[in-house]
Amino acid sequence: MGSPSDHYDVVTVGAGVAGCEAALEASKKNARVLLLEEHPQVGLPSHCSGVVSLKGLELLGLEAHSSFSQKLIHGARFYPPHGEPIEVRKKAPVALILNRMKLDQFLAKQAVAAGAELRVKTRASKFQRTSDGNLLTLGEGSKVHSEIIVDASGAGSRLPEQAGLQSPDWAQILPGLQYELVDMKEQGEVVELFFGSKRAPGFFAWSIPTGKNSARVGLASKKGNVKKFLDDLVKEQWPKAAVDATKSGSVLVAGPISRCWSPGFIVVGDAAGQVKQTTGGGIVMGGYCGKLAGIAAASAAAHHGEESERFLRNYDSLWREKFGSDLRKMGLARKLFAGLSDETLDRLFSVLRDNVSEIEEEGDMDFQGKIITRMLKKRKVAALLPRVAADAVKAIFS
Ligand SMILES: Cc1cc2nc3c(=O)[nH]c(=O)nc-3n(C[C@H](O)[C@H](O)[C@H](O)COP(=O)(O)OP(=O)(O)OC[C@H]3O[C@@H](n4cnc5c(N)ncnc54)[C@H](O)[C@@H]3O)c2cc1C
Repeated sequence: MGSPSDHYDVVTVGAGVAGCEAALEASKKNARVLLLEEHPQVGLPSHCSGVVSLKGLELLGLEAHSSFSQKLIHGARFYPPHGEPIEVRKKAPVALILNRMKLDQFLAKQAVAAGAELRVKTRASKFQRTSDGNLLTLGEGSKVHSEIIVDASGAGSRLPEQAGLQSPDWAQILPGLQYELVDMKEQGEVVELFFGSKRAPGFFAWSIPTGKNSARVGLASKKGNVKKFLDDLVKEQWPKAAVDATKSGSVLVAGPISRCWSPGFIVVGDAAGQVKQTTGGGIVMGGYCGKLAGIAAASAAAHHGEESERFLRNYDSLWREKFGSDLRKMGLARKLFAGLSDETLDRLFSVLRDNVSEIEEEGDMDFQGKIITRMLKKRKVAALLPRVAADAVKAIFS
């Protein structure tokens, strides 16, 4: 058995939004918590565009006017492959653009203030169950014991497999690339989304205003050269803008794994596939599930055997109760959407154009299940289904 100094109730791997929230909640329940981050500074490097709905922010108990806030957003403008854009916009702001580095640092500070120990430049490389309990090997070879380990180490994590769980289908990760653009024409209060095989096959490109003349412009795509697609888009839309920074990242669209716990182990956030398959957005879901994971981990750490496992199992039920139904519908929408030809996309957008006010009324950035169901029930969308099926078959063989 190790010394008390390397024995914790809860060790959280990864100081992203999910890991910080888990560490914060577990600390608030008086657990002895260690928060590990492999990079020297929490929040860096950041690959994220930082779009969160105001409702989602509220779900995380966060304020729109905080150190991490950049700009309030009123809606979105969709550019179909051909033809005029469609704007979905509300009078009041609906979303916040945030500085992701500052958000993670804000949350990590809260976790530390609540009692968590933060260790940066420390990579967790291996999870093992031993006769001494649960053991995590760190990059430099030292080991820590923990009653419960929370894996919040993001896309590509291998810890779940070591704990006897499946991982999300990492083959379904889409490569993404993003520029911080400056010297742009004046930016409005909507995000812009660009669709089509010439722009971002199987996904979309985005422009997220961050200031008066600046934006995060990026894309992810199922195939092709993401850099070429992005350079072409910038040339077409903002020829006078300058690139201030470039970031690449992995957009996850695989959906969640079927089980998120095993004895002494919880997986949360991107590492568990807790991401909207339609957009790759995971700040709100990952953060909220992180809270649930932290509460469950602290309770499980204070119990043994079956009693302890009850809390971990309960975490898995609670997060699925909250997001499971919407994730299933978003997964279906993603599958239908991913193989659409430009012609079918144009037709689909023309149906959306006819239903803008309903989307403005009923749409929810985080819980998209309801609006997806309503749109799929439209006669004009149903009439497109044979085309969608034909596109899907073509996509498989292309
Ligand atoms: C280009 C792009 C744009 C995006 N835009 C948005 C958006 O606008 N809105 C939105 O909601 N979502 C967006 N996302 C998704 C969002 O960034 C993720 O869903 C979210 O970051 C998941 O949080 P997480 O805490 O699970 O993982 P992460 O944020 O990835 O955090 C994991 C942390 O663990 C650390 N780590 C990894 N391995 C180890 C290890 N072995 N030991 C110790 N530390 C480790 C990492 O350094 C990192 O700090 C975007 C993603 C990409 C790629």
